[in-house]
Amino acid sequence: MNNKIWLSSPHMGGNEEVYVKEAFTSNWIAPLGPNVNGFENAISSYLSDDKEYETAALVSGTAAIHLALRLLGTKTEDYILVQSFTFCGTSNPVSYEGANIVFIDSETDTWSMCPDALEEAIVALKGKTIRAIIPVHLYGMPAKMNEILSIANKYNVPVIEDAAEALGSKYKGKACGTFGTMAALSFNGNKIITTSGGGALVAKNRDYIDKARFLSTQARDEAPHYEHSQIGFNYRMSNVVAGIGRGQMEVLDLRVQQRRDNNIRYRNYFKEIEGVSFQTEPDDSFFSNYWLTCILIDPEKSGGIDREQVRLIMEQNQIDSRPLWKPMHLQPVHKDAIFFGTGVCEKLFEKGLCLPSGSNLSDEDFDRIFTVLDSIFKK
Ligand SMILES: *Cc1c(COP(=O)(O)O)cnc(C)c1O
Repeated sequence: MNNKIWLSSPHMGGNEEVYVKEAFTSNWIAPLGPNVNGFENAISSYLSDDKEYETAALVSGTAAIHLALRLLGTKTEDYILVQSFTFCGTSNPVSYEGANIVFIDSETDTWSMCPDALEEAIVALKGKTIRAIIPVHLYGMPAKMNEILSIANKYNVPVIEDAAEALGSKYKGKACGTFGTMAALSFNGNKIITTSGGGALVAKNRDYIDKARFLSTQARDEAPHYEHSQIGFNYRMSNVVAGIGRGQMEVLDLRVQQRRDNNIRYRNYFKEIEGVSFQTEPDDSFFSNYWLTCILIDPEKSGGIDREQVRLIMEQNQIDSRPLWKPMHLQPVHKDAIFFGTGVCEKLFEKGLCLPSGSNLSDEDFDRIFTVLDSIFKK
């Protein structure tokens, strides 16, 4: 039996173990230490040349979004406008805070938050407090940030940018993760770089990051004993896993290149095949890290082949592929949530498939993938 080809598996660069070993040698086996500082600095330096952004390393991207909502002072009666087409890590923190979620549709160019649906929702919620807007750069493709930010500014609503999938992506030459009032990154095992599990909160405003560090270490006031005037969280990244992160930052640009090369390979393969289209950079303002290469399969043009058929045949051949995110407004837990849009994300979900996209895929892996795809599309 062949080894499994994964959708997106961890890809170490080499120096991770050096940093992790340092943590052991110096006995910094704690939720702070030199690797945490080093990792945060590496991220801040990566996001902008002049290090305008501060970073707090945390246990997950979900924790970063949760802290961002806290830092904005989210109350249960508030409304949070969340992109529906996403992973639950985007929206769960809104539920943790007990606030009202309003889901926003995607547009067809980037597959992320539709500016028209966003404005429609804001207008419809007149009189309510909208605490934040949470757009996502889906699969690494930058969302239409110009349009989204101009609406956010018009109505004076902060943006929490979910850049969990988009480290290394750029919009108009500016790094994803630098557009929101705050931004969340993720270093989960399947992301473009990983610390096995982890995340970070990024902000230009240092005050937010200082407070995030405070809240993520149980909100301990300054005192010789343990003194608490607020409820905090145990959300800080450990110095051991931050060592993995430092090593991964050294190869991030290479990983972006490798993922983009995968994307080109798939495009070349499908060039001659009817009914298959790609999530594509709309113009050269958009630079995607192509974390995952995603396709849409239209059975009306593909001779009846649909995404589920492709997924199952791949699975029989030990090749991992996955439907696109099921829109959150269709999830049983959100059956009563409000949705604004025309159902673009529902159609994308119906037709879309994420293809194996790891930066560690070999030529042999691609041969296997294309042989299986040949058996489906080139019968
Ligand atoms: C991965 C991811 C997150 C955060 O996930 P964690 O596993 O908590 O780090 C949030 N949003 C999106 C869109 C993601 O893909």
